[in-house]
Amino acid sequence: MRDFGGIGMRDRGSIRMRDFGGIVLRSPARVVRPRSAAEVVDAVREAAADGLDAVPRGLGHSTFGQSLTTGVSLDMRGLAGVREVGGRHAAVGAGTSWREVLAATLPHGLTPPVLTDHLDVTVGGTVSAGGIGGTSHVHGTQADNVLALEVVAGGRAVTCSPAERPELFDAVRGGLGGHGVITAATLRLVPAPERVLSCTIPCRSAGDLLRVQREVRAEHISGQVKPSEGGGWRFEAKAVLYGDGGAPPPGTAETERLAYADFADRMRPDVAELVALGEWARPHPWGMVFLPAPRAAAVIGATLAEMAPDDLGLSGVILVKALRDGTVLFSVLRTASPGCASVAEMLAANRRLLDRARAAGGTRYAVDSTG
Ligand SMILES: Cc1cc2nc3c(=O)[nH]c(=O)nc-3n(C[C@H](O)[C@H](O)[C@H](O)COP(=O)(O)OP(=O)(O)OC[C@H]3O[C@@H](n4cnc5c(N)ncnc54)[C@H](O)[C@@H]3O)c2cc1C
Repeated sequence: MRDFGGIGMRDRGSIRMRDFGGIVLRSPARVVRPRSAAEVVDAVREAAADGLDAVPRGLGHSTFGQSLTTGVSLDMRGLAGVREVGGRHAAVGAGTSWREVLAATLPHGLTPPVLTDHLDVTVGGTVSAGGIGGTSHVHGTQADNVLALEVVAGGRAVTCSPAERPELFDAVRGGLGGHGVITAATLRLVPAPERVLSCTIPCRSAGDLLRVQREVRAEHISGQVKPSEGGGWRFEAKAVLYGDGGAPPPGTAETERLAYADFADRMRPDVAELVALGEWARPHPWGMVFLPAPRAAAVIGATLAEMAPDDLGLSGVILVKALRDGTVLFSVLRTASPGCASVAEMLAANRRLLDRARAAGGTRYAVDSTG
């Protein structure tokens, strides 16, 4: 092992790393686990001296090698930790997971305004991607709710915010690590409800699902497309009202009252089941595209018309989420399960989805597998 001055580095030249996608594999020249911004500066400088890229990696939940490298892999979990929860903000290390952020803020009655469906992804990883959740129609992305960042760029650690180095602040949010390594973040917080009312609203079509998302007033709203028993697809919106007072929106077929903490962590039982079934470890060729609102229903309809459930895999999921600016995120989250379509077929379908999205004026979500 090389001596890197005792800053928590491990030489792993022979290890092959994968991400949640499980499609791209890379052997980093070495893995470094910096524990401070200064150690990130040193690691990036060392990498450059050796002619290597330094690529930050959070929890590796992107799906097409975005967090992988043959150079130096910076394991940002060395920078996990909530440093402070103040009046309406939290100061956290970039490698902190959203689960860890929420665990620290809830005792103060506070929550980040936007949470991803899965909480085991890092602040640095989602701010570098965008970070969309069921509240994004109100609050925008997680990247929109960052007050300030500490970033290693140009050989030193600097702070940036809308008022200080705004160009750097804008470049690193959604920049996939290409404009600097985020080492810490100050996050906006809002009051957390104690309980929520989750309302399931069956919809007739993609257009109806989008209409419900536009018209229903709910703090958290999402849409899902599921295989229908008689063949074809069925559509379902989930409108989640915060607090105890709200009446279910028109069209509600089922309701469920939940503690907010359980609602935020609602994927946990499904993840445990998928891990037990082996589905969590299978390749995940995920197609995720942003669509302009007026063309969204047509693109979703055309994509579903050429798909069968086997094209999605045994545990695949299709999500539809209308965002604050009217854009629609259409996510075809495929799992290459045994007996279903192959990884190559799923990637080809993702490319067709991206072509269709681009023809409609859309674009890809950069952490997917259409690239
Ligand atoms: C089960 C599951 C559910 C998901 N749900 C959602 C969801 O609801 N909404 C949503 O928007 N996304 C969702 N995603 C996608 C996920 O949020 C992104 O892939 C996110 O980037 C993952 O965070 P990570 O910590 O694993 O990042 P990684 O995959 O490790 O990294 C992602 C990218 O960010 C870069 N990066 C990582 N850390 C830093 C840093 N500190 N500084 C600069 N660059 C960095 C990496 O180099 C890479 O390019 C989900 C993914 C999975 C697997």
